[in-house]
Amino acid sequence: MEQIIRIAVQKSGRLSDDSLSLIKECGIKFYNGTGKLKSTSTNFPIEFLFLRDDDIPGYVADGVADLGIVGENELVEKDKEVLTLKKLGFSKCRLSLAIPKGQAYPGVSYFEGKNIATSYPKILSDYLKKVNVSASIHEISGSVEIAPSIGLAEGICDIVSSGSTLMMNGLKEVEEIFKSEAVLIANTKLEAWKQEIIDKLLFRINAVQKGKSNKYVLLNAPNESLEKIVSLIPGMRSPTILPLAQAGWSSVHSVLQEDQFWENIEELRAAGAEGILVVPIEKMII
Ligand code: ATP
Ligand code: MG
Repeated sequence: MEQIIRIAVQKSGRLSDDSLSLIKECGIKFYNGTGKLKSTSTNFPIEFLFLRDDDIPGYVADGVADLGIVGENELVEKDKEVLTLKKLGFSKCRLSLAIPKGQAYPGVSYFEGKNIATSYPKILSDYLKKVNVSASIHEISGSVEIAPSIGLAEGICDIVSSGSTLMMNGLKEVEEIFKSEAVLIANTKLEAWKQEIIDKLLFRINAVQKGKSNKYVLLNAPNESLEKIVSLIPGMRSPTILPLAQAGWSSVHSVLQEDQFWENIEELRAAGAEGILVVPIEKMII
């Protein structure tokens, strides 16, 4: 039998586009036509299962899939035994408690003895235990924001990204209880040959992620300020310095984290750097 691993990704929703882009940036080709629930890569030993995100932790725990991409919120809520291999940096959101806008909020004791509607009963009950509040949790699977206005609950616990859905439903966010982003998870009992394929995949994911957070920087500088400039943009091993056609000037090429670049930009300019170009890096292997 051909040796191939299986990864479960969300079929459609707030995880799926970025999950599939990441796979594509890793150079892994596959076809995902609408409605197709399974697909095999044409150039990497991996098969895709397109599922609802709720089912991904369970399928990975059971070994139906070897890997999965899922939000930490869903992962912690489902409480299945899997390994988290990597945070992926997309589908960032938070789980928060919210109450009707007009209500005064004295602190988390507000919820004592109240009803809270949520799709995340486990995360919510863990939180309530931690802060020593007893409330009843009313589990509903969607449109949680409507609960207070129809008298179902005095507060809700749900995913917030911008807060606009809360506002539209007359609610205000009062406590953030959990932060989430997409993660790559794996079954806990993988055979060695599967682990080898996964290591190759992880190597590519790391290269893509490093590339994204780093930039290739090119600038011109008078030779007398090279020492200062090199110290500001040290790069991977050390910057490349090339002479310009104009005597007394050099071109400096380096790689650095984007935030580090912004921190140093004033000093670079003060040191005489000019003609600064910042170029995206597609992949980076150190
Ligand atoms: P499914 O049909 O697969 O069950 P769903 O409706 O449960 O999908 P989505 O709304 O597609 O879920 O969200 C999937 C995941 O994306 C969430 O569990 C969460 O981790 C993350 N997420 C949710 N809302 C946002 C948001 N507004 N911004 C970024 N990430 C989000
Ligand atoms: Mg879901």
